[in-house]
Amino acid sequence: MDYDLLIKGGRVVDGSGLPGYQADVGVKDGRIAEIGRLQGTAARTIDAAGLVVAPGFIDHHTHLDAQLLWDPYGTSEPMHGVTSVVMGNCGLTLAPAKAADRDNIVKSFVRVEAIPRIALEVGVPWRWHTYEEYLDALDGQVGINVGGLVGHIAVRQYVMGEESVERTATPDEVARMQQLVREALEGGALGLSTNRNERHMREDGKPVASRLASDDELYALCDVLAELNCGVVETVVGLTKLEHLAWYDQLARRSGRPVLWQSVQHRWAAPNLWREQLDGIAPTFRDGYRAFGLASTVPLLRRWTMKNAQVFDEFPTWKTMMFLPELVRKQAFQDPETREKLRAEMNGMPKASFHRRWDLVQIVHVARPENEIYRGKSVAEMAAMRGQDPIDALLLLSVEEDLETIFASANTGGDPEVVGQILQSPYVLPGVSDAGAHVQFGVEFGYSTTFLGLWVREREIMPLEQAIHKLTFQVASIFGIEDRGLVRPGYAADFAIFDPNTVRALDAEWTQDYPADTRRLIQRSEGMHYTIVNGRVICEDGRLSGDLPGQVMRGSAYRARAAAAV
Ligand SMILES: [Zn+2]
Repeated sequence: MDYDLLIKGGRVVDGSGLPGYQADVGVKDGRIAEIGRLQGTAARTIDAAGLVVAPGFIDHHTHLDAQLLWDPYGTSEPMHGVTSVVMGNCGLTLAPAKAADRDNIVKSFVRVEAIPRIALEVGVPWRWHTYEEYLDALDGQVGINVGGLVGHIAVRQYVMGEESVERTATPDEVARMQQLVREALEGGALGLSTNRNERHMREDGKPVASRLASDDELYALCDVLAELNCGVVETVVGLTKLEHLAWYDQLARRSGRPVLWQSVQHRWAAPNLWREQLDGIAPTFRDGYRAFGLASTVPLLRRWTMKNAQVFDEFPTWKTMMFLPELVRKQAFQDPETREKLRAEMNGMPKASFHRRWDLVQIVHVARPENEIYRGKSVAEMAAMRGQDPIDALLLLSVEEDLETIFASANTGGDPEVVGQILQSPYVLPGVSDAGAHVQFGVEFGYSTTFLGLWVREREIMPLEQAIHKLTFQVASIFGIEDRGLVRPGYAADFAIFDPNTVRALDAEWTQDYPADTRRLIQRSEGMHYTIVNGRVICEDGRLSGDLPGQVMRGSAYRARAAAAV
């Protein structure tokens, strides 16, 4: 047998950005063996006539750190052509961790990434201590390839314990954190992530640990990346304003490493900010340093109730309400004076995140039959029907329904003209799936299929070749993943094979596949025919194969250490 797998007659769009071409692709031992008009025999042949054969997509922004421990595919990633994922973003990782750190790490994941606590308690078998051991725990257990950043929150927790959420670090503590980052990079991490989002707190209301870090602490940790010449620096703040761009610029210059920041979005609350951000970061690139803004291809639609809403966290009284026991909270919402206070607070603060456009907040589910008339309406429409002010209407309807009413809103990504321009910028890295996070609020698994269907086919914002490049080789290059992201001989045989005329993401669906029967949202697609990892088909027309060919992707410091040991 010449090949293990032969992909016949497809149009190869190889990830480089060059024009696609008709060719067969032969795979042997998990690698691309040959490309061209191939005649050899194969254990399996796939007819790809009419389909595009692209490198598998690399989803660089996930929070699958926990989910991959019980779901080896990070479902629904393979349904969208994703063959590799990066986890450990936004400062959050499950390693390094001593036994005493575990619950504090869980506290951050539960609140920041909105993963149900019970799923983490039941689903995470803490078999590791170091970052390297955590990666080892995934080896041979995954259906997709996985790499990870080491999270500043875990590193700080490890060195400082509970004081990590209370104070700045001493020079000695910073030195110990540097050592942990060094060990993580040499253990395979693809970089470092940190979190300065002033809205990101633990389940107990305390700030996540990395928010207490000084600039000097973070710079010191980035110095380790510079020293090892390895890894990216990934950051998150609440809203990237112009002063943050100077900070990204500093991180990029000081470390010489690619910096990733969140995010470049169209925002109803600040409609011109995206242009100012892209203009503001251009000098960094012109000087030869890299600080890519992350951009989403889909509006960040969030589903929430007044049981669990985080959309109002920027307003202190609203946030306080959300931490009250539900009974007390309902009583508060029924009190006209409290509602007046909530209204005055929201209307009195400058617009930051929530847009206060009640016409853009939809009612997607009602609990009581008599309220069916409101389903599909906006809060503004519902308020008009009830003859109430929108905030009163939102809170009173929720109370009537025992806080079960489900609303949906998107603060970002609402203007397609602007999103199209953002996705075209060379300073932008598309794709913030956040897979594994906010599992009951929304899904963006389909960032890749939406990119190809909505933005490339329907709105024609760029050629297919360029979009594939952004989903594959661009990501691999930035993250130092050396053998993926291109269809070239010698590269890993990861493919997304799809119909460019039909590919698209479908609507989110509920499922109950998390540990302890927890509910969450998944997303399927159309037109994605085969997802292939290391030469083996893991997903065919939306059906998972059960095969686990995924590998752990370890960074260059690991490879350097391994080479030196030989
Ligand atoms: Zn994130």
